[in-house]
Amino acid sequence: MLELTTQKAHDETRQGEAYAPFKSDSTTYSKRFYIESYGCAMNFADSEVVASILNKEGFGATRNVEDADLIFVNTCSIREKAELTVRKRLTEFRKLKKTKPGILVGVLGCMAERLKAKFIEEEKLVDLVVGPDAYRSLPALVNKAESGQKAINVLLSRDETYADISPVRLNSNGISAFVSIMRGCNNMCSFCVVPFTRGRERSRDPESIVKECRDLFENGYREVILLGQNVDSYYYTPQLRKAESLTTPVTFAALLELVAKISPDLRVRFSTSHPKDITDEVLHTIAKYENICNYIHLPVQSGSTRVLQLMNRTYTREWYMSKVDRIREIIPGCGISSDFIAGFCTETEEDHQDTLSIMEHAQYDYSYMYYYSERPGTLAQRRYTDDIPLDIKKRRLAEIVEVQNKLSLASNKKDIGKTFKILIEGESKKSDTDWMGRSTHGKVFVFPKENYNLNKGDYAMVKVADCTQGTLLGKIIDPVS
Ligand code: SAM
Ligand code: SF4
Repeated sequence: MLELTTQKAHDETRQGEAYAPFKSDSTTYSKRFYIESYGCAMNFADSEVVASILNKEGFGATRNVEDADLIFVNTCSIREKAELTVRKRLTEFRKLKKTKPGILVGVLGCMAERLKAKFIEEEKLVDLVVGPDAYRSLPALVNKAESGQKAINVLLSRDETYADISPVRLNSNGISAFVSIMRGCNNMCSFCVVPFTRGRERSRDPESIVKECRDLFENGYREVILLGQNVDSYYYTPQLRKAESLTTPVTFAALLELVAKISPDLRVRFSTSHPKDITDEVLHTIAKYENICNYIHLPVQSGSTRVLQLMNRTYTREWYMSKVDRIREIIPGCGISSDFIAGFCTETEEDHQDTLSIMEHAQYDYSYMYYYSERPGTLAQRRYTDDIPLDIKKRRLAEIVEVQNKLSLASNKKDIGKTFKILIEGESKKSDTDWMGRSTHGKVFVFPKENYNLNKGDYAMVKVADCTQGTLLGKIIDPVS
């Protein structure tokens, strides 16, 4: 899988990541929890909400599973492989439970929602099963589990957004933070399990979003990534949600504007956009504010209109291509990335060639690429046969990856000689004499610190001298702050 940015919706390098302990927290906790997260950025953001709920109940985080009284795994169901990884991890916790019998194991997130009580039957060591809309009930469920009973709550909600819960930012770089703006998904892409595991779409109160972003800015953060399965369909209706100071509905474009106005020094990103919902209003708002990043993740999934119809994506190849053209017309030079599924049901070689050619048209900067994994209960599983042999799926995926590698390198080469405003995120992993940061297009930059008095969170103007497929190598020509 080619994955070039750590700000993506699904970051392979973060799978299974455990929280760091509260570094600056001097409280003595009677109990410790350990939480490991899998899947998309929404899950990582949810783990921060869970940490906040548990923290209030007197549980402190630990990064060392052996020290924990409670072990949580926040799970993903998007592909079979994601579920198998969690099952395997649970076998390791089984060994631990034998040496420390009082320890409780809880499964959170999409797998909990998909398998419900079956999880407790299948995985005897699991004590708690909690769906993504039921985290407020965690303290009560932990109490129940501590009394020896199995505890389960997988109720999906029509209005839970955890708006009032301030997530605990434990693993962040202190510069960039995820902010969840909506939950669930009303699209019914036939391959996708998300509408079943995360429920109906609902938008979070914009006032609480702006407050969270402002608090982050005041605490030194310089970038917020607004998160949702389908952010462009964000729509907050005050009448429905009884917000007092708002009288008109808030669209995604209006929300972007509200967040951008917090400070010109706060960068705003968002993920993910469903192509059908991204409007000219959103594109013009991005173009209007320098601090709204010129980068759109616009998953196409397939370049064949026939396959897109089977996937229920509601757009054609031509319509998608004209959307890409429109983005580049309103936001010249906008970075665009995509998701692909190789080998969906009935996909022919011709369909696959359509995918390769749409990539050439869109000139994606990055892509997240997968082969089709049939998920139980989805429309595709009920209606179609998963008829493409695994070796063909893998070969097509490899061809997609090859084209993307070529496009990513070409996109980076085009930047050589140009100068970009870079937000410094920290030291480069390879050398403490270099900074690592990102441009508005989401591209990763590495450049020498030299003698400039800069810190992470500062901006610098960097001229590109060279590149690899994943990184631009440059030199500071002007420190901005
Ligand atoms: N809401 C986002 C959208 O519509 O683009 C994406 C959500 S999903 C968590 C992330 C990506 O996983 C999808 O864009 C798709 O490429 C991939 N995906 C979803 N279901 C899949 C499946 N059954 N097999 C393989 N990949 C899948
Ligand atoms: Fe899944 Fe489609 Fe919703 Fe994305 S838009 S979460 S792919 S159903």
